[in-house]
Order: sequence, then C-alpha cells, then structure tokens
Amino acid sequence: MSTEPRQPALFVPHGAPTFALRPGAAGAALARHAAQVPRPRAIVVVSAHWETAIPTVGTAPRFDTIHDFSGFPRDLYALRYPATGCPEAAQEVATALADAGLPVAVDPARGLDHGAWVPLRLMFPDADVPVVPLSVQSHAGPAHALRVGRALAGLRERGCLLVASGNLTHNLRDYFTAAQDGGRTPDYVREFADWVRDRLAARDLDALVGYRSAARWGLRAHPTEEHLLPLFVGLGAAGADFQAERIHSGIDDYVLAMDAYAFTSSSEMQPRTN
Ligand code: ZN
Repeated sequence: MSTEPRQPALFVPHGAPTFALRPGAAGAALARHAAQVPRPRAIVVVSAHWETAIPTVGTAPRFDTIHDFSGFPRDLYALRYPATGCPEAAQEVATALADAGLPVAVDPARGLDHGAWVPLRLMFPDADVPVVPLSVQSHAGPAHALRVGRALAGLRERGCLLVASGNLTHNLRDYFTAAQDGGRTPDYVREFADWVRDRLAARDLDALVGYRSAARWGLRAHPTEEHLLPLFVGLGAAGADFQAERIHSGIDDYVLAMDAYAFTSSSEMQPRTN
C-alpha cells in the first residue's frame, strides 16, 4: 500500500509559446494550484506536441528542453527546464498501460517539448520533481485518450501527478489571423469552452467524446484533435465518477481558451495540503 498522498489529474493550457514569457492570469492560476497539491513523487506529463502511433513513455534520465517552434522572440529559446526523469514511475506508467491492454513503447531519448515544459516551468519552477513524458495518439480520437487516462488512474494513488497539456480551443489559422482581424475574439471560443464546462459538470461523456458533432463549434475549435485529447486523458484518470473543478477560465491571444481543470473522483476528498 502506497503511503504517497493521492494526486489529482490536471488539464492545463500551454497557450502559444509566448505563454512562457507572459504567463498572466492563467500562469498565476496554474502556479497557485500546483502549490496546493501534495508534493508529487513524479509528474506524468501528457503533451499535445508529442504525437506517436502508440502510447509512448519517455524514459530519459534527464530531458533536453525542446524549442519546437519558430519565429518567436529570442528570449524563448534561452529558456530551459532541466527536469530529471523517473525510471521507476516511467516503468509503472508503461506497466499500467500494458495491463489495460494498450500497446506501449518507450523512448529513452525524448526531451520535453513546449507543451510539457511551458506549463511545468510555471507550476514547478525549480524543476525539482521528476517527470515522465507520455505521448498522445491524435489519429485515435477521444475514446482512446479516455482509455489511456483510465489506465493511469492507479498512478494517482502512488503519488504521481498527471498534467495533461493542451488547449480547450486551438485553431492555428484563427491564431495567426486574429491580430490582423483587429484582435477580436470570435464567439465560438467562449461558447465552446463553456460547452465543455457544462458537459463536464453533467458528466456527459457521450457528448464530450462526440464533441466534433455534439458541439456546435467542435470542428472550428479543433480542426485537428491533438490539443483537446489531453483533456480526455485527464478526466479518464479520475475514473467514471470524475469530478471536474475549473481552476481557471480565460482567453489569451484572442482565440486560445486557457481554461484549466482539476479532475478527481467524486468519492475522493480534494487533495489539498492546506
Ligand atoms: Zn500547443
């Protein structure tokens, strides 16, 4: 029996790469929440920017900081997040996935992409909690991501904080044209984010998994799925009776909903240390 305190599963936004330089209200909310959870033994970070054919676990002893973007301010490329790996927790993640009947691979060379290090740097700035990166499968859709999350539920009992990093809205075309359009936020951004909030509150998994047809703006908010899939991993890890707490709601860069959620099982007490 583990003596580690139970951890929540978090869905966090990583915004545009400039989120690292201008964390604003969303960054403050992430930092505040990270300070409230019991200190994790390890962080399992699921990033929209690591897409693989099958679930893949990063097992490097320490991670390179991957600057997987171009055309952004020079200061961004100087930022590093020198977290170490956690071979033991990485093995537990791989075993949990395999036990759930999922295919699994390991990658001993993978570093931390900006979907992983940008929010982790805001939440755990000292990089003193070991990290286990886990990939997403964008071709496999929400039901698969939910299954991956469900497989990881037991890790929360063993002191592993799940940080699933994406964005509640993510339309790159809208992102690049927003400023030219006069910096207006299209209605769908808030509308889709609030639709997710309401469906989470109702525990309406069918609608959530079927968001591309069930939500009026599903396709506009996510022309491709990878940035929403971490949400399903996070809520999956809280089990069938998941409870979603919205820990931040906001919009950055006109079109990026920065909503963040903490998922627990409704049978659990909130894992707060204070
Ligand atoms: Zn991204």
